[in-house]
Amino acid sequence: MPSPARAFAAQSATTPLAPFAFERRDLRPDDVSIDILYCGVCHSDLHTARAEWDGTLFPCVPGHEIVGRVTAVGDQVTKLKVGDLAGVGCMVDSCGHCPSCEASEEQFCETTGMVGTYNAADTVMGGHTFGGYSDHIVVKQAFALKINQDEKDLAAVAPLLCAGITTYSPLRHWKAGPGKKVGVVGIGGLGHMGVKLAAAMGAHVVAFTTSPDKIADARKLGAHEVVVSKDADQMEAHRASFDFILNTVAASHDLDQFLVLLRRDGVMCLVGAPEHPHPSPHVFNLLMNRRAIAGSPIGGIAETQEMLDFCNEKGITADIEMIPIQQIDAAYERMLKGDIKYRFVIDMESLKAG
Ligand code: NAP
Ligand code: ZN
Repeated sequence: MPSPARAFAAQSATTPLAPFAFERRDLRPDDVSIDILYCGVCHSDLHTARAEWDGTLFPCVPGHEIVGRVTAVGDQVTKLKVGDLAGVGCMVDSCGHCPSCEASEEQFCETTGMVGTYNAADTVMGGHTFGGYSDHIVVKQAFALKINQDEKDLAAVAPLLCAGITTYSPLRHWKAGPGKKVGVVGIGGLGHMGVKLAAAMGAHVVAFTTSPDKIADARKLGAHEVVVSKDADQMEAHRASFDFILNTVAASHDLDQFLVLLRRDGVMCLVGAPEHPHPSPHVFNLLMNRRAIAGSPIGGIAETQEMLDFCNEKGITADIEMIPIQQIDAAYERMLKGDIKYRFVIDMESLKAG
């Protein structure tokens, strides 16, 4: 029997999120059902709920930084058992047999494409998928993550499911580590995780921020140096010196000011996904030093588990502010002003208040 679910949804791009009821699918043999205890608030939730990207399907229940407790498992489930802590990130399915899926890079699924945790076609229930601003989720075991962290840290683990993996994956791909100078641009939800992770990997980390009030924090997060990107002299001091720059900025901006900071064969990876395109960079800034601009979406399931275990071993969690779900629109407004250190997490207990 499908199970009734309570949630908060946006009914249109301009209406505040409000209580919403729907049904989760019946448990299939390889499914687990997870009671959601906490869900992180990603800037992508805001972009989607407010239809800043093309293709928002309403009603929209955002949320892809999901953590909770397993309450039921299908007959074939071996990965998790009732009572375990578990997480769900940005994907809930993919074809499972194309070369990308076989490499556990399901985010690049070459046939059906990955199925997003929200705002994707729901092939089982029809309609579209609903995310983590809800009381429970039913998901294939292959897309559920094991959370080995202590339960007391669970709320601060939630943001690892998107902000964590989205920064971990490119840092690993471009080999952040000892002897590498790595920049992280934008100290928000993604950026603060990027700083922590790059520092834990052993790189020399430089944080770039437009907010001078984040300088002291960025150092506490693990940055060895902090640059206020609006200060031309501070930027010039780092010209042609970076191996890798991870750019997490959520708004369209001048990429050239960061490109010129890359050394020979340096790469700037864009993970921020702004509503409006960046102005095209000057080609000469790419030609010189054979620089490259790349992009990276989230990360595969195997790498997400690796990241969760790396964070557990290193004692890394997100810096969070807990909110009841009724404050979600106020939280979005504060996120737009950069007024969050550094990730909102919804206490899903608050859903019971309606
Ligand atoms: P966030 O918490 O709002 O952080 C974004 C940060 O960017 C801000 O804290 C701010 O840092 C900086 N910033 C914002 N507006 C700026 C502007 N006009 N100029 C320069 N800097 C600005 O957002 P988030 O949750 O980290 O997400 C960041 C972006 O990544 C969003 O676009 C989101 O959709 C995207 N995203 C992509 C993926 C992926 O798979 N690639 C996954 C998740 C999220 P400072 O105050 O330090 O300057
Ligand atoms: Zn996200």
